[in-house]
Amino acid sequence: MQHTEERTFVAVKPDGVQRGLVGEVIRRFEQKGYKVIGLKMLQVTDAQAKAHYAEHEGKPFYPRLIRYIQSGPIVAMVVQGYNAIAGVRHLMGSTDPDKAEVGTIRADFAQVMEYNIVHGSDSKESAEREIKIYFEESELYPERKCMSELVIESLDAE
Ligand code: UDP
Ligand code: MG
Repeated sequence: MQHTEERTFVAVKPDGVQRGLVGEVIRRFEQKGYKVIGLKMLQVTDAQAKAHYAEHEGKPFYPRLIRYIQSGPIVAMVVQGYNAIAGVRHLMGSTDPDKAEVGTIRADFAQVMEYNIVHGSDSKESAEREIKIYFEESELYPERKCMSELVIESLDAE
């Protein structure tokens, strides 16, 4: 079977940050085994908001979406793992929390589509594009080590 490691852009949106759900959202991705290889809290600028949601420009919900994503700080991250783009979307659940499967982030923590806690890229192209909006390559740490490697290295160094 072929599995490819992918990177995807994830954000805890302002409502998730305000409600104290940052840890809960990250926990779910880490529990799955994905690696968080980049992480920061930031206020989304006008340029970042427009670039991020360019595909939705002109839609009725667009102005409100831009206001929402800038209504407070977000926690932006890059998540890496096997088939992580679709996998993260699966853990997030459908855009509308009422239609999201129970057990997903949006079903468990959100009530309405306009405040649905979390963002995740929907394709390889979106992931690459969105990561660049929020992160420099130098801000990513893909080579994190597991505990056994750390222990072996530290013992070897003694
Ligand atoms: N959104 C909304 N009303 C809609 C559709 C979308 O407020 O009718 C918001 C919602 O926050 C959603 C975001 O716009 O997460 C981006 O929409 P998209 O269709 O890309 O959904 P997602 O990829 O986030 O599931
Ligand atoms: Mg989308």
